[in-house]
Amino acid sequence: MPDPRLHIIQGDITTLAVDAIVNAANPSLLGGGGVDGAIHRAAGPQLLAECRTLGGCAVGEAKITRGYDLPARHVIHTVGPIWRGGSQGEVEALARCYRSVLALATEHGLRTLAFPSISTGAYGFPIRRAARIALRTILAYLDYHPNLEQVICVCFTRADWEEYMAARAFVDPRV
Ligand code: ADP
Repeated sequence: MPDPRLHIIQGDITTLAVDAIVNAANPSLLGGGGVDGAIHRAAGPQLLAECRTLGGCAVGEAKITRGYDLPARHVIHTVGPIWRGGSQGEVEALARCYRSVLALATEHGLRTLAFPSISTGAYGFPIRRAARIALRTILAYLDYHPNLEQVICVCFTRADWEEYMAARAFVDPRV
């Protein structure tokens, strides 16, 4: 049986009314382009004000804020690795992002969570490998955390959605 708590959708993560959406931020946590810019625009200026108090975030780590004007209650900010060819620890760093976010969600008693495809925009991580890392890490975590009710992987484009669907079949032979 595939894990029914994992969902793969195409859409805009800023529209989702979940306990937390995940931001693919940069180490300053002071905003940027891509999904980071979209989240800050939708959340309003109070999000940036809270982020200024956090002192940044290291690659692979995660920090939580409120969601302000977003339909989501919280934002969990994580910083993915910049792709530098794959021999600089990028794979492990990306897996660590997912684990850090999931651990923080559990710590705060959150039950529904939505991830963007971390590092696969401006940071250049190849989507096929990133999707497999994302899904493998999330599914492994769900196996031991029954309290998480729903984890949504939000793909911005149809092409990314197709990669995630193929990756799910690859990493989870039960599908
Ligand atoms: P990174 O710097 O970690 O690569 P980006 O924001 O550049 O982060 O890209 C990460 C992913 O987020 C990309 O797949 C991009 O298409 C996607 N993305 C951009 N805007 C949104 C959005 N509003 N909702 C969901 N995903 C988005």
